Amino acid sequence: MKAILFMDMDLRKTIDKIKDTRTIAPDELKMLLECTDNADLEYLYGKAREVADGIFHKDVYLRGLIEFTNYCKNDCYYCGIRCSNRKAERYRLSEDEIMKCCDTGAMLGFKTFVLQGGEDPFFNDDKICDIVRKIKEKYPKHAVTLSIGEKSYESYKRFFDAGADRYLLRHETANEEHYAKLHPSSLSGANRKQCLRNLKEIGYQVGCGIMVGTPFQTVGNIYEDILFMQELQPHMIGIGPFIAHKDTPFKDEPDGSVKDTLVLLALLRLLFPKVLLPATTALGTADATGREKGILAGANVIMPNLSPVNVRGKYLLYDGKICTGEEAAECNECMKRRIGSVGYHVADSRGDHPDMQVV
Ligand code: SAM
Repeated sequence: MKAILFMDMDLRKTIDKIKDTRTIAPDELKMLLECTDNADLEYLYGKAREVADGIFHKDVYLRGLIEFTNYCKNDCYYCGIRCSNRKAERYRLSEDEIMKCCDTGAMLGFKTFVLQGGEDPFFNDDKICDIVRKIKEKYPKHAVTLSIGEKSYESYKRFFDAGADRYLLRHETANEEHYAKLHPSSLSGANRKQCLRNLKEIGYQVGCGIMVGTPFQTVGNIYEDILFMQELQPHMIGIGPFIAHKDTPFKDEPDGSVKDTLVLLALLRLLFPKVLLPATTALGTADATGREKGILAGANVIMPNLSPVNVRGKYLLYDGKICTGEEAAECNECMKRRIGSVGYHVADSRGDHPDMQVV
């Protein structure tokens, strides 16, 4: 009994140390990911909440997600909209439809629009710039986030000059060998990381991130992800569990663990106190109250869907995706209720990174 108590104290001291020094050693990461004791996990989540609440005062930022195309030229082995998936029913939203999503979002009180899509050559740089400009002309005080994959420095610069504020590009894994097991040889982790560095240099608020529990992922890989994040110093970090899609090469692979995702969310909050950290839709898919649990583990962003209901069921990155049948207004109300249920509230501001406030 004494030995167990001693172990608990050890783990809690480690958590305190990570919080105070904002550093973590490989064996500490392993120990925390292996922890299954609920009281210890609650201790970790509590510390992460303390840090988040000290900076964000229980505010949660909502981002209106517009999934504007599911065409993709890439063939990532994990993704339901990969180009080889002939069963995916493809769609593109018109500029008018995208603007209507923004109108709905603005009416519901969203201050950020996230334009996400596959890497769709139809939406060339001119088209993306036009869309960004139109949104910013109509909604100059709103933030526009792009999440449209790997582009050249020049393209990123053009989107930024057109008014885009933020860019989400998960690096997926910082380890080259692991990257090569998740992607075809036409894609490289080195290029993806370079894209993130370019985005940061241009002046975007930048989000990187990983899926938790992808096939072949090791604790060592996750440690390398943390090292990469420490180098990049992103403004946002998007992590969610890997969830298998039935029409991909990874269809029989086990899903990522909700507990591991929560542990990593909490650790990221301790390591990067000011970072914008979403409780993702994948987390809400893997566990019915996953997003609430994410907030209670230090997350402070939620991305409700603003896409038209008739296309929602087609943007299927993984099986069982939630919120595919609800209108935006319903989704928004449901999110507000869920956030309130755990003692947090939806913020009224744009929700920029604390060091990147726009006046
Ligand atoms: N094309 C853009 C890009 O490459 O960043 C944005 C769209 S991409 C589908 C968005 C993210 O979905 C990816 O970065 C990946 O982490 C996540 N994703 C894809 N398939 C997934 C799966 N099976 N389970 C969980 N997340 C997945």
